[in-house]
Amino acid sequence: MSRFIFVTGGVMSSLGKGIASASIGALLQLRGYSIKMKKLDPYINVDPGTMSPYKHGEVFVMEDGCEADLDFGHYERFTGIYCSREDSLTTGRVYEKVLNKERHGDYLGSDIQVIPHITNEIKEFITSNSDNVDFTICEVGGTVGDIEGLPYIEALRQLSMELGKERTMRIHLTFLPYIKVAGELKSKPTQHSVKQLQSMGIQPDILLCRSEKSLTDEIKAKLSMFCSVQKDNVMAALDAQNIYLIPNQYHLEGLDRQICRHFGLSNEETEKQVEVAIKNKWAKLTEVIQNPKHSIKIAVIGKYTKLKDAYLSLTQAIAHAGYAHDAKVDISWINAEDASETIEKQLDGTKCIIVPGGFSSRGVEGKMQAIKYAREHKIPFLGICLGLQLSVIEACRNVANLKDATSREFTDTGSFVIDFMKNWDKKGTIEVRSESGNKGGTMRLGSYECRLKEGTLANKVYGKTDITERHRHRYEVNYEQYKDVIDASGIVVSGASVDGTLPEVIERNDHPFFIATQAHPEFKSSPLSPHPLFYALIKAGLETN
Ligand code: GLN
Repeated sequence: MSRFIFVTGGVMSSLGKGIASASIGALLQLRGYSIKMKKLDPYINVDPGTMSPYKHGEVFVMEDGCEADLDFGHYERFTGIYCSREDSLTTGRVYEKVLNKERHGDYLGSDIQVIPHITNEIKEFITSNSDNVDFTICEVGGTVGDIEGLPYIEALRQLSMELGKERTMRIHLTFLPYIKVAGELKSKPTQHSVKQLQSMGIQPDILLCRSEKSLTDEIKAKLSMFCSVQKDNVMAALDAQNIYLIPNQYHLEGLDRQICRHFGLSNEETEKQVEVAIKNKWAKLTEVIQNPKHSIKIAVIGKYTKLKDAYLSLTQAIAHAGYAHDAKVDISWINAEDASETIEKQLDGTKCIIVPGGFSSRGVEGKMQAIKYAREHKIPFLGICLGLQLSVIEACRNVANLKDATSREFTDTGSFVIDFMKNWDKKGTIEVRSESGNKGGTMRLGSYECRLKEGTLANKVYGKTDITERHRHRYEVNYEQYKDVIDASGIVVSGASVDGTLPEVIERNDHPFFIATQAHPEFKSSPLSPHPLFYALIKAGLETN
């Protein structure tokens, strides 16, 4: 039977609840416990698939194709456990379920209410599929006090009561602002936030206090007294130079020890074991992060360069590959909509170029300019999803001289070397989509198998021929119709879907390292196990240094 750790956030958003939850999971794993990560998102969208990366950060794609909040990326990267649709709940999904049941007549004529129908559905989500793990860490999105969040807090209150203290724990991540002129950290916003939680029937067991300065004994005592939280359970969550230093920081504050004490699981022996485990797992990484021997500058050309969270998994995958080479990677973010001379100037001196995934025609010319630059100047290049499609279009236009080569995504006329494919094979069943269908949920999503041709760069990079990667796209390379032009453009299809119909990986033989994939490899990279494509890209870049 699982124990449940509820993580809420107070005072304001962006405190890093996702990273805090993921770190709790990682620390419990080091103690030998099995864990599961779940997230409750109070917004009303059914899933974040149609939400703008500008506002909400990237959409993270799971193995099963679920389009999820970016916090799931942190969960997977920190714990190495793949999450699934069953682990992600939004208000939209809760209501969808409740309304379907109502239409089906399951409520036998009763009027449907937030309590108990909505809250029951939330409780059901939290407790289901958790029987076989020691701990379920359940993060509640948003900030305590948000109107949308109320049913979730109520569900946590009920569950805390039903399962008791032995099986539940409440951790509140909060913020202590530092007032420069006064030279002190302020505890009042946290006191208010905890009061708000208490007024809804939740007493936090641990306060994780995000702040830029260490917490004095005095402020811990004050928070303890005003918030009714034991002093040992008032902990600092200091701003970190790098997110992968956080599990160790929390450990030094005693977080995992106090969690285990709460559940009656801690003893001298396990405390010693965990010290060794932490050293083995994170110490080397910490050393590389703090004192990298090499450095390398790479360029990423995209549309959402102002909000870095829009490319969160990508940035992480690049950093992971850097760690593996003992290198700090400086990313130069280039706005694809900049003037062409500006783009060219910014590309000068970069050792690798990445064109990441993206949607719609905005910025595609700038991205193709970067691809052309990489191709002509022989700079190690990685194209991801749209990056692959644009690599094909660029080569068809500029090498094979098919000037109107384009994608059906950008225009209604031209030679569609990238086109809308109506159906594809998923593990033996044909999935069908229609161009006029809903924008949400019509993409080729999630993990698909791919076969790499022996002897190709892709084969060398992965070290095998059978791979799986996660997808999120509507359009494909139209190799069937444009085989001759694509071949003439120097593009080599080095990986394809199992039935051989959809090109999955392309490369160029006239270039030291030019590779692009229709998938999103960045979703499967982790700090201790970097993705082979990013690893190989950074290696190629370092070798040209
Ligand atoms: N917009 C392209 C498509 O839908 C590529 C998507 C992506 O880069 N994720 O096929």
